Amino acid sequence: MRTFRRRLLRWFDREQRKLPWRGESDPYRILVSEIMLQQTRVAVVEERYKQFVAQFPTTTRLARAREQTVLAAWSGLGYYRRARNLHAAAKMVEKLCGFPRTADALRELPGIGRYTAAAVASIAFGEPVAVVDGNVKRVLHRLTGRELGEEDNWRIASQLLDRRSAGDFNQAMMELGAMVCLPSTPLCERCPVATMCVVQGAGVAREKPARLKAELRYLLALNNGKVLLRQRSQTSSLMPGMWELPEMLETNGEKPLLRLKHSITTTDYAVMVYSGESNAGKWMPLRSVEKLALTGLSRKILRALTK
Ligand code: SF4
Repeated sequence: MRTFRRRLLRWFDREQRKLPWRGESDPYRILVSEIMLQQTRVAVVEERYKQFVAQFPTTTRLARAREQTVLAAWSGLGYYRRARNLHAAAKMVEKLCGFPRTADALRELPGIGRYTAAAVASIAFGEPVAVVDGNVKRVLHRLTGRELGEEDNWRIASQLLDRRSAGDFNQAMMELGAMVCLPSTPLCERCPVATMCVVQGAGVAREKPARLKAELRYLLALNNGKVLLRQRSQTSSLMPGMWELPEMLETNGEKPLLRLKHSITTTDYAVMVYSGESNAGKWMPLRSVEKLALTGLSRKILRALTK
């Protein structure tokens, strides 16, 4: 195991991607990056992380912000429950008068599960706790050549962990999964621990899951510098409380003002926007919509039409 740790850490030292949260030791900033990365691609998070921590540089600033301001800053990242939980976690940290320093204590914060708690505790405070995410699971599955249950993954990750460099080791395991031990085509010839891997890429090629296609139609109603928006229900399972352009179920065969493509998880949407009139919604000044908690798609449409 010592050889495994040494090779992996050396490789990480040499090959790790330069990301805005690399080398960060502030637990709040590490938490922001981890929460953003849960459902969003690294390339998107890189830019949005910088903007978010510039707007809310500390837990105090985030705790004091209005929820609509936080949701607006999160707009386009999707899965808005993450933003609400992060906001609630910042408020709780303020009440506690300090950031919890162990994985167990971190799990008391809203929206923080076993993985996120271990990632923050090991990277910010050096606590010797292993992480298991999708990347780590794939690496462990191939290293051992066995189907592993949830608890097996955590146990083996803990056994492998370099307890003196827990934060770096955890990041190295995830980086190996993200950059080398890829889901469909692992790059075993570049793998620092290939000689210790049972599978070494054999039989792991997989077909990509098929993507779904769907259409969405929206109404653009403008009046005196205002745009008609509607607010999604607070109990909606998807993006509750967010603002968006009104959806249209039918059209009269007219030509759309705008066509664009938008992808959410496994679905590719063909989006069409039609000019029209309605009063079902709320008129909002166009100049202030950037500050509203708009859905990512509505923000994209308004930017495309007003640029
Ligand atoms: Fe993954 Fe290949 Fe490395 Fe094994 S040798 S851990 S399959 S990249």
